[in-house]
Amino acid sequence: MDFSRPDNARKINRLKVLAALRHENLSKADLSRELGINKVSIGEIIDRMLEEGLIEEVGRTAAPSGRPATLLGIKPSSGRSLAIEIRSKAVSVSVSDAKGRILRFERFPRTESMMEDLERTIAKMRGDDARLYGAAVVSDEKIDLSSMIDAPIINISKIYAETSSELDRMENPEDMLFVSWADEIEAAIYHDGIITLPQFAHIRAQREGECSCGGRGCIGAVASGKALIAATGAKGYRDLLTNPALFPLWKDALRPMAATLSMAVQALSAKAVMITGEMAGISDEALGHLQALLSSALPPKRKDVRIFRSQNKDKGAREGAAIAALDEFFYHTNLLSRLSVIERMSSDFQNGI
Ligand SMILES: [Zn+2]
Repeated sequence: MDFSRPDNARKINRLKVLAALRHENLSKADLSRELGINKVSIGEIIDRMLEEGLIEEVGRTAAPSGRPATLLGIKPSSGRSLAIEIRSKAVSVSVSDAKGRILRFERFPRTESMMEDLERTIAKMRGDDARLYGAAVVSDEKIDLSSMIDAPIINISKIYAETSSELDRMENPEDMLFVSWADEIEAAIYHDGIITLPQFAHIRAQREGECSCGGRGCIGAVASGKALIAATGAKGYRDLLTNPALFPLWKDALRPMAATLSMAVQALSAKAVMITGEMAGISDEALGHLQALLSSALPPKRKDVRIFRSQNKDKGAREGAAIAALDEFFYHTNLLSRLSVIERMSSDFQNGI
């Protein structure tokens, strides 16, 4: 793409306006100032986007001096995204508005007729009149849904989806390590973007415990939610996490988890850890224990690394998938962050650095 061509510059400015309005309502003057785009161009972009129904007027500024200005915001009903989560036992479909809020959600057991069930559910939930920006499929399997969805699709992992959901609410995610602790253990770190760490589950955390990879003592084999449920005989995550009689039976798994976090935090220079997925529901007692183990495993300079729990419960993946689909196909966040790197480099170049 040639960024200096006027039509491309206009497209990029449109994306910048969408991104700026994503989390707050702003006036034309605010947008012009924040984005460094002249008022005439902002006016043209806004008029066009109002006409297309992408944004709407949401109120007026309470100006202490001068005339109040019209505030603009993303129009939630302008379009939708689909999130489809395919797990070993269950499948879920949700549809969200342009701000990522879930409008409808359905879950059904995974059976031999999964593809037919999916097609029927997607057709019903998609609606006929609404614009569909895109879909995200959360699954470790390669399942092609392109014949039933008339919009672009991305395939993402559970950790990518859960991290997207956390990032949407976070002020400063830089250098945070995200660990999805559920049936499987997965991780990602945020450095100017989400970087997933596919080998995290195979970090060797202790001596014993056979892993499907052929290794021994991998964290994914010894401390996954699936392994803990099997070892304790818990009826499910709720039972595992809230039944006080069960905690003594899996408390020892916090030790290899702390060892793994300590290694990862040091190797990746992470500043904090966020636990997502079903195990984010661990009790204060279990979290305190894990934090104490991590702090004692870290070198003196790094003892301030804190562990946080996601407040999303089990809805993180579907919320995050909706956000990831919007990021990719509506807000084009990844494209914008790549562009900002290029812009930074070219201004450094012009300044002779
Ligand atoms: Zn392994």
